[in-house]
Amino acid sequence: MNILVAGGAGFIGSVLVPLLIDRGHRVTVADAFWFGRSLPENVETIDGDLFSLTPNELARFDQVIFLAGLSNDPMAEFSPVRNFIDNGALPSYLAYASKLAGVKRFVYASSCSVYGFTGGDEASEDTAVHCGYPYGISKLQGERGVLQLGDGDFSTIALRQGTVVGHSPRMRFDLIVNTMFKTAMSTGRIVINNPDIWRPIIDVRDTATAFRLAVEAPPETNGVFNVAFDNFTVGDVGNQVASALEDRLSRPITLEILRNEDLRSYRVSTVHAREQLGFTPTRSIPETIDELLTHADEYGDFSKDAFYNIEIFKQIER
Ligand code: NAD
Repeated sequence: MNILVAGGAGFIGSVLVPLLIDRGHRVTVADAFWFGRSLPENVETIDGDLFSLTPNELARFDQVIFLAGLSNDPMAEFSPVRNFIDNGALPSYLAYASKLAGVKRFVYASSCSVYGFTGGDEASEDTAVHCGYPYGISKLQGERGVLQLGDGDFSTIALRQGTVVGHSPRMRFDLIVNTMFKTAMSTGRIVINNPDIWRPIIDVRDTATAFRLAVEAPPETNGVFNVAFDNFTVGDVGNQVASALEDRLSRPITLEILRNEDLRSYRVSTVHAREQLGFTPTRSIPETIDELLTHADEYGDFSKDAFYNIEIFKQIER
């Protein structure tokens, strides 16, 4: 298949693109390369803002995967206007232009953060969503803009991912497990902002597999899919990261428990993705820690701006 990965130079794309190539797909990445270029050398790239892509340029692709936009709350809150443009309007425009161009499928990187506060029950894809913060609202807007274009000739799939963690050639240390790993390695401490809130978590290798399965699913596959390994309280995540590191490094890790308020706490059901896409993620939090330890020597200074989306974004959006 000939696939365009829009935003494919980011944290998830830098793991997904090699996987798609290994599967025999022809992959092109369109990206503004905000965080650099950590892609395989033989990947064709289109450098620039995705709004400049025209239906003519999209006509050669069978499928488009959308991984772009602002990818966390701090970026969305730093520039709510840019957030609503890049997360709401951009995927809607690109799906519209893709459909005009005759592309057969559009796969959108949505987020479980659209659920907001689920009160402890597992949310399925049919559960009403309640998010009142810019990132969640805009991810929902993008998802709805894309999905309502779906028809018999244009398949639209939204993967609502839990927090994606683990190692990528384009590394981020602003994601829950990765942040805990970084502070544990550099200070011997893990700070838990609120131990009781829930988050679905998924290793980046598993989320890449979910995108691969979405691309390769039968043409009639459509709709929203929750994608996560499991649901954890933040306290549990901290305990798992600390005990995995204590075990592997034979040194103590201290947990510091705070009680900061958080508007978001959600648990999700992943039955739909398992049944319809055949998606069964396998990487536990200790396995993610093992992968991070394997790459630990490559990271160097943990405080580098490049590891933190908000730091680079502040320089772009000055
Ligand atoms: P990332 O920030 O690492 O990568 C995003 C990429 O998109 C970057 O390479 C950036 O240069 C590019 N980009 C953004 N806006 C662009 C534009 N207008 N034109 C051209 N390029 C542009 O993000 P990520 O962690 O890989 O996440 C990918 C997608 O998955 C995002 O849409 C994000 O909202 C969604 N998501 C991520 C997570 C997570 O935990 N990482 C969880 C749920 C959903």
